[in-house]
Amino acid sequence: MAATKPEKVLELRHLTKRYGKTIAVDDLSLTVCRGEVWGLLGPNGAGKTTTIRAILGLVRPDAGEVVVMGHPVGRGAQRIMRHIGATVEGPTAYSYLSGRDNLRLCAKLTRNGAEQNIERVLELVGLIEKANVKVSDYSLGMKQRLSLAQALVGDPSLLILDEPVNGLDPRGIREIRRLIVRLAREKQITILLSSHLLHEVEQTCDHVAIIDKGKLVLSGPVPELLSQTTGDLEDLFIELTGGEDGSIN
Ligand code: ATP
Repeated sequence: MAATKPEKVLELRHLTKRYGKTIAVDDLSLTVCRGEVWGLLGPNGAGKTTTIRAILGLVRPDAGEVVVMGHPVGRGAQRIMRHIGATVEGPTAYSYLSGRDNLRLCAKLTRNGAEQNIERVLELVGLIEKANVKVSDYSLGMKQRLSLAQALVGDPSLLILDEPVNGLDPRGIREIRRLIVRLAREKQITILLSSHLLHEVEQTCDHVAIIDKGKLVLSGPVPELLSQTTGDLEDLFIELTGGEDGSIN
């Protein structure tokens, strides 16, 4: 029996975005299929956030397009956007509200019926015990987990995480990392996360796309890339991206 074709959840087709003379994203093409966890890896300024912002329709590409579940982003794809959960540019929540109330608000804005997911999502991110505590009393790790809960409350098929472990201590990093792996394994959520940490991507992702100066320099399944390199992925990453800014650890 022929194997079923993997379902394309996200396609970047020749995506290009310029800011003046800077080409933030340069002819970037990538296909992400259902259930895959992709790491968008690159040094500072490589174009990761711009790519994510284009996926979410927050910036308009100068050329190329983003297609989510077969629908081009930015051309009447609002219904499709409801299937995307995202954390972009750090945790954002009302600090004078509790975690649960923030999620209530978020659920209302996301889609009908999302409110019924609140308790399950709080449980999933390990915030159920602190759900009634004001966000102003949360640690950064708790805020990051709340941000993940906000992204998950609409029951997304595609989760986009911009630097999800930024600023966290090793314990917080481990918690978020485990959560991401669990979400992918148990919930079959397709995930694209950006990171400048190779180690992070190796730990959490099954696929990696390395970008530098807006260009895709290497992509594929992590084990396949590992088997192709004589040294390790870190050597390759430094070689491909210059990586002299000390961001790789
Ligand atoms: P970092 O890891 O430091 O967050 P990044 O990989 O996310 O970097 P981007 O933030 O996408 O990279 O930036 C890519 C390039 O585009 C950089 O040269 C940046 O200075 C530039 N850039 C990004 N946003 C803007 C903007 N709004 N206006 C002008 N230039 C921008």
